[in-house]
Amino acid sequence: MHLISASKSLFKHSNDPYKNVTLSVIVPVYNEQEVLQQFHSTVLNILEALPCLCEIIYVNDGSQDDSWTLLQSLSSTEVNIVRINLSRNFGKEAAMTAGLDNAQGQAVILLDADLQDPPELIPKMLAKWQQGYDVVNMKRTQRHGESTFKKLSAHWYYRLLSFLSDVPIEKDVGDFRLLSRRVIEQIKNLPERTRYMKGIMAWPGFSQATITFERPERAAGETKWSFFQLIGLGLSGITSFSVKPLKLATWLGAGISFSTFIFGIFLLFKTLVFGNDVAGYPSMMLVQLFLGGIQLIAIGLLGEYVGRIYIESKARPIYIVMDNYSSKASISEQSHG
Ligand code: UDP
Ligand code: MG
Repeated sequence: MHLISASKSLFKHSNDPYKNVTLSVIVPVYNEQEVLQQFHSTVLNILEALPCLCEIIYVNDGSQDDSWTLLQSLSSTEVNIVRINLSRNFGKEAAMTAGLDNAQGQAVILLDADLQDPPELIPKMLAKWQQGYDVVNMKRTQRHGESTFKKLSAHWYYRLLSFLSDVPIEKDVGDFRLLSRRVIEQIKNLPERTRYMKGIMAWPGFSQATITFERPERAAGETKWSFFQLIGLGLSGITSFSVKPLKLATWLGAGISFSTFIFGIFLLFKTLVFGNDVAGYPSMMLVQLFLGGIQLIAIGLLGEYVGRIYIESKARPIYIVMDNYSSKASISEQSHG
């Protein structure tokens, strides 16, 4: 009931281009044929029970399996289904960007296709939005069905990122969240190619609410991230939201130079007093290798940032849409009904 009154109050601006849709659910899809049917019927059950106009935006991120064919067969009489087909696999971050660019809702929720982001929480998220929050962050208290390595690395990564980043990025919050229309309009103004969405979605700020939940196992299929892809995503998160690693390299260099200077004075003094018996091969090797290692790390770090400048300067599109189908009829039926 209260949802209807909220949508009515939002509709009072007659020049608002989004007035016909209240909620958009964005779903990036990459090789999810095993789970799509189950996902679709679960989400539809929840959306159809809501007293507001809804759309589901499926973004097929260059799946090699039958996901796209399956997506075309999904239907609903009450919920608008938008199907966007990207021209190849651009990655989850690009797929979510495509979804956000095409979303019409006053509120947008990002959901994984594997039911690891429980759609049952959608009404709770909308209730927070109605209370006036612009962002509803979904914080994981537990993660089920994931390896100990993934859990541990995610735990420490979120802490490292929130320590390094200048933007407050909430810990243990994935991409699953609700964003209000005015936050999305701000996100659309961020043109960067290196899209670390957890950072990008946190960057505009606005009023934030947090709901905690236990992350269930994947309903079917397998995770799409390899070890190296996760490392890459992690690095891009840090380099796009912080230059502190560069500062750290400077400070480390300064610290090592200073200690070397003190050690040099000590060696000079020792040689003058006790003479030099030309020993110390192991310690010399150790120092050389240590410094060589530090230098290579610092150059690599610099390379990471220079590489990002290079990618940004090419200014290529973030994704390419090959097909875009929308079952608009059902939405207009609804808005007249
Ligand atoms: N995904 C995508 N493009 C990719 C990889 C993943 O659109 O290149 C989608 C995938 O279909 C799913 C969501 O992103 O809907 C999360 O992927 P996954 O479940 O593999 O990640 P995990 O939950 O293991 O972190
Ligand atoms: Mg998953």
